[in-house]
Amino acid sequence: MTTVLGSNLRIKSELPFDVEVQRSRRKSAVIYVRNGKAEVRVPNRTPNYWVKQFVHEKRDWIEQQLKAEQIRKSEQYSLRNGASIPFLGQPLQIRHVANADVHINRQELILPADDLFTDAAKEFHSWLKHQATEYIVPLANKLAEQAQVDNKLRNIKFKKTKSRWGHCTRDGDIQFNWLIMLGPPEIVHYLVAHEVCHLVHMNHSRAYWAVVDSLCPARKAAQKWLRSNEHKVLALH
Ligand SMILES: [Zn+2]
Repeated sequence: MTTVLGSNLRIKSELPFDVEVQRSRRKSAVIYVRNGKAEVRVPNRTPNYWVKQFVHEKRDWIEQQLKAEQIRKSEQYSLRNGASIPFLGQPLQIRHVANADVHINRQELILPADDLFTDAAKEFHSWLKHQATEYIVPLANKLAEQAQVDNKLRNIKFKKTKSRWGHCTRDGDIQFNWLIMLGPPEIVHYLVAHEVCHLVHMNHSRAYWAVVDSLCPARKAAQKWLRSNEHKVLALH
């Protein structure tokens, strides 16, 4: 494989992965492993031999990270025919059926099949958004009442983003990622409680977590679940 040093110098390397080097006005060297390669950031004027040695020293760690990234990627849910995907934590097998409406039939999730796979995805996401609205709006209202902030909750919206589950503004607008609906009910409960409690405290202070815990005693277990599982869900497109 190749190593790219600087912007235009490309040298052969015996390393089994790609390395990209960026020089800038930073003070120390750092390596990020992502998108199947190692990105090395070093201060300006760091000599190439130093960079090479640095990468070689970190080689085992880089390879571990690359492996972990690959595993996380292989675990991501997809909408392929025959793939497995959960809905409210229950595993379903995806079956593509020509011209079908998206629905659940026993243990199967039926998706419309067509040559342009993007249509199946589009239909799926609009179905999931609908499911999220039906499930989450009443739950958010109930939790807001429990936390005595139902007067502050103004609007609940749904949007799919790649990096976050929800968002709450000072004006009382809460936004949820409809991919939440793939998680088990206790995870949905936590994520909804998390945003609703921001109507009490717009921060992650001790006082804020105390309110979350009063609505969602299993909060820590939910956070742990998210740390090990959210990469499977958030990449679905
Ligand atoms: Zn928060």
